[in-house]
Amino acid sequence: MVHAPPRAPAGAPPVRINLYSDTQTRPTPAMKAAMMEAAVGDEQHGDDPTVHELCDRMAALMGKEAAVFLPSGTMCNVIAILTHCGKGDEVLAHETSHILHSEGGTHAALTGVQIMPLRGPRGMFSVDELRAGIRQRSRYAPPQRLLEVEQTANIGGGAVWPLATLNELVAVAREQGWATHMDGARLMNACVASAIGPAEMTAGFDSVWLDFTKGLGAPLGAVLCGSAEFIGQAWRWKQRLGGSMRQAGICAAACLYSLDHHVERLAEDHANARALARGLAQIEGVVVEEPDTNLVFFDIAGTGVAAEALQSRLLERGVAVSLLGGRVRACTHLDVTAAMIPEAVAAVREALAA
Ligand SMILES: *Cc1c(COP(=O)(O)O)cnc(C)c1O
Repeated sequence: MVHAPPRAPAGAPPVRINLYSDTQTRPTPAMKAAMMEAAVGDEQHGDDPTVHELCDRMAALMGKEAAVFLPSGTMCNVIAILTHCGKGDEVLAHETSHILHSEGGTHAALTGVQIMPLRGPRGMFSVDELRAGIRQRSRYAPPQRLLEVEQTANIGGGAVWPLATLNELVAVAREQGWATHMDGARLMNACVASAIGPAEMTAGFDSVWLDFTKGLGAPLGAVLCGSAEFIGQAWRWKQRLGGSMRQAGICAAACLYSLDHHVERLAEDHANARALARGLAQIEGVVVEEPDTNLVFFDIAGTGVAAEALQSRLLERGVAVSLLGGRVRACTHLDVTAAMIPEAVAAVREALAA
């Protein structure tokens, strides 16, 4: 569902306002300085002090026993599923989820699970929708093993699952004997937007991970958290998949820096996203979803301009956006300032009129 990154047409001006993704932030000079000074060791051998510091801090933050540092969020999902499930098991997840659409078919290719796609508005499903997905146990039915949710729901528009809903879903999972996994790529956005701490938000989940390369602005890394036993098994998969690293403390230092300096500021990204949505809503034919966090999805079908045309006309004006699930996505982050928002709105207005 995610398109290949667009290339600027030859002679196009450089991207001035990058709303393509919060993954495109560059490490700040202060973050780079923290990386330069990091104490390092052989991570694969268990000797990297900065990685230990990051994992200890993340386990405490998430209220879990243990944590493991991995190169990417995708590897966190793959390893969590490999650890919770066996081949032929079924995972219940939203029909727009990252594990279904953006992991290169890895669950058919590698984990061997099948995914039951659940429906519901804004990337979320209700307890009734989850209950409707419960299979009667029989030798015909795939064994259901895992409930997975994304906090925030990316294609759902960066929507924040209410804690009460999460707790209700977890109660159903417990009653069914399923494990629970949270894809927390943008968990901190959810926590800042709802003023609920990560340990409370993830209390019902057996495993949860946080991406440091989205709004937190680090160049590399994600941390998967869970029980000591779960993380021990996850380590075996990390080794098997080639995710064990060496002087990874250089990257863990950037993650630690982001926990200290880039979490509370996510509120600015959310304010910028709301301002962007308000501005876009003024343009005739544009239908905008009210953002909960830093992702602004809008539909331009009513303007008669194709989304691909808008994307390339915006690039000519130095503004990058992405196309996802038939809509345009504009994402605010560390490298997008409040002053850029009116400029971006003006660029969309011009590009649609061009
Ligand atoms: C980005 C993302 C991932 C994958 O993270 P990577 O670090 O890019 O591998 C997984 N789930 C969601 C919801 C994401 O937005």
